[in-house]
Amino acid sequence: MATTAQPDATELETVEHAFDEAATTLDLSPDVRERLDLPERELIAQVPVRMDDGRVEVFTAYRVQHSNARGPYKGGFRYHPKVDLDGVRALAATMTWKTALTELPFGGAKGGVNVDPKGLSSSERQAVTRGLMGPLECVLGPMKDIMAPDMGSGPPEMAWMMDEWSRLRGYAPAIVTGKPVVLGGTEGRVEATGYGVALITRSIVHELGWDMEGLRVAVQGFGNVGSHAAHSLSRMGCKVVGVSDVNSAYVNDSGLDVGELVRRARSGIIGHEGMDLEEASNDELLTLDCDVLIPAALGMVLHAGNADDVKASLVVEAANSPTTPGADAIFEERGIRVLPDVLANAGGVIVSYLEWIQNTQNVQWSRRQVDDELEERMRSAFEAACFRAHHDGCTLRQAAYRLAVERVVEAVGLRGHP
Ligand code: GLU
Repeated sequence: MATTAQPDATELETVEHAFDEAATTLDLSPDVRERLDLPERELIAQVPVRMDDGRVEVFTAYRVQHSNARGPYKGGFRYHPKVDLDGVRALAATMTWKTALTELPFGGAKGGVNVDPKGLSSSERQAVTRGLMGPLECVLGPMKDIMAPDMGSGPPEMAWMMDEWSRLRGYAPAIVTGKPVVLGGTEGRVEATGYGVALITRSIVHELGWDMEGLRVAVQGFGNVGSHAAHSLSRMGCKVVGVSDVNSAYVNDSGLDVGELVRRARSGIIGHEGMDLEEASNDELLTLDCDVLIPAALGMVLHAGNADDVKASLVVEAANSPTTPGADAIFEERGIRVLPDVLANAGGVIVSYLEWIQNTQNVQWSRRQVDDELEERMRSAFEAACFRAHHDGCTLRQAAYRLAVERVVEAVGLRGHP
């Protein structure tokens, strides 16, 4: 039975732990190590917003730019009540390693505003979004720092950010990615992270000599990433035996009707009347009897307090930092493989890059072009990580970090920074 014990590390400690392991193995000099350990720039802004009822509320927004050694800063912008500086620092560093691992010509950044978006009307979300572009403007730019959707944000927020930037500085669709398609967004961006999770799951399943047909999958989190991952995996033949959202988990040992769950979630239907499923708790979902467990929501959900109870043989990290170092060690000891976040959820930023290319060249690609390019880039990052893991005799997380850190260090060196 799962426990709800406190995680044994914070998100920042988790990301630093992975970086430290790579830095030690690669024998980085103390100055390079310190440089990559700390973000290059951090901005904290207080954003006053006039709410629908006339009151003024002040929200705290963050943008942390971790490294631009390999190209402009790149990373999402989160709307969530748990957003804080340390969490954003962890996510910004993760973006640096993610873009390096997938060989995108970007650095890493992340931002967020401490707000519960579900408690805001559409006009209030628009006011918050426009309000934060004022203080953030000085650190952003299509060749400087490009924002994108993250938890709690999507195409509408990106449209408002792009419009506000255009008002302040002139039309430049490449200022953010993840925009609606009619405003210069790309086909396939909304689905990209979840679809990428499914593609990389299929790659490792084939690598392990398993079969996708009937593979038992549990997905924790049914937001944009989790729902698209579950849907794509069920189309690839997997049996999705459990999913969860913030309220509850829904299980069926013979497989859930994922198409119907997705349809209801997107049309805002609450409840599962008429569906063949049982309710369970979120903790039970994490320890469900399955082959593949996909955490696709917040970080730190798999920790030393529940890792012993996980029954899956493979964990695919659709969320950022869902596994603490304590859980990672337990999984390694138990022979449970982990596909790390920097690899597993890179589909989003890969397609963001494809959107940015289209914007900077003023062209529009087809969905087929986008999906083919995404598949090729995910495959090549996966193969590089597998090769390194095999060569070094290490885990996929260690291999992914070593490759990524090596590439960033090389860029820093070649640029001749002090
Ligand atoms: N927020 C996504 C991530 O964590 C996407 C970032 C982007 O597209 O720039 O990878």
